[in-house]
Amino acid sequence: MRGRWPAASCIYPFRIGDLPACVVSDGPLALPPPADVWKSVPESALHADLAAAFLPADRTEVEQNALLLEAAGQTLLFDAGLGDAHPYGPHSGRLVRSLAEAGIEPDAIDAVILTHAHSDQCWGLTLADGTPRFPDARIYISQIEFDFWAGEPAGERLARSVAGFRRHVLPLRDRITFLRDGEEFLPGITALATPGHTPGHTSHRITSGDAALCLAADVVHHSLISFRHAAAAAIFDVDPAQAVRTRAALLSRLADERTEMLGYHLAWPGLGHVQRDGTAFRFLPTPMRLVGADDIMR
Ligand SMILES: [Zn+2]
Repeated sequence: MRGRWPAASCIYPFRIGDLPACVVSDGPLALPPPADVWKSVPESALHADLAAAFLPADRTEVEQNALLLEAAGQTLLFDAGLGDAHPYGPHSGRLVRSLAEAGIEPDAIDAVILTHAHSDQCWGLTLADGTPRFPDARIYISQIEFDFWAGEPAGERLARSVAGFRRHVLPLRDRITFLRDGEEFLPGITALATPGHTPGHTSHRITSGDAALCLAADVVHHSLISFRHAAAAAIFDVDPAQAVRTRAALLSRLADERTEMLGYHLAWPGLGHVQRDGTAFRFLPTPMRLVGADDIMR
């Protein structure tokens, strides 16, 4: 019937060299207004940039681009989404539906690799009753990240993350494998310490043949502002100064190496390259690459 299309697909299959990969959305988030997120950017400049880019000033709209990857004979999921909580609007929590669209049930996930332990990465690890959502999955996380949140750091700003960590990550302690900076913990997947947003925030370099993708997670939060105002910390950064240094270093490296990146919160599906723009940067989305029917996962 005319106009009765199925709901929008929330998966984006692609390849990294020989590796089947798929961005699977946990649904978009509506965060506080940009002026409340990037407080060091003059509000007038921020609003001018947003208006020029056709973006709203009353809320910050970001994605949740988790990555599904077939590598090392395993089905890997990078970050687990927000789960059943909806602190940032009604559209989050659809990761399991997105995985189903990709033909993957939760019990097919062999490992969940957490870039860090904020709500939108790790609250999806368990169901409301505490049952693991991915029953057969090992969990990889930086030891520094685990120790930081397990140590229950004080402060009102961290309280919700501490409580969420205690609820969704700590009970899975016996499934966890700790990551170290520079470690190739699975063939072709190397952990890169990118601290600041959180103390143990970890990016990943995924390689296959000559192809490489840097999963940069929350080193950037926004396709425009995190690049144009790369020197501005976001309120979510645990150590703002370190987050700014890490962002400058990683974006410089990706621009110079011409390495493609995936940003968890960047405009769907979050894949693109980094270009230098004076002392700042620009994010250039990757054009759609249709994979053949034979290439589509499962
Ligand atoms: Zn985060």
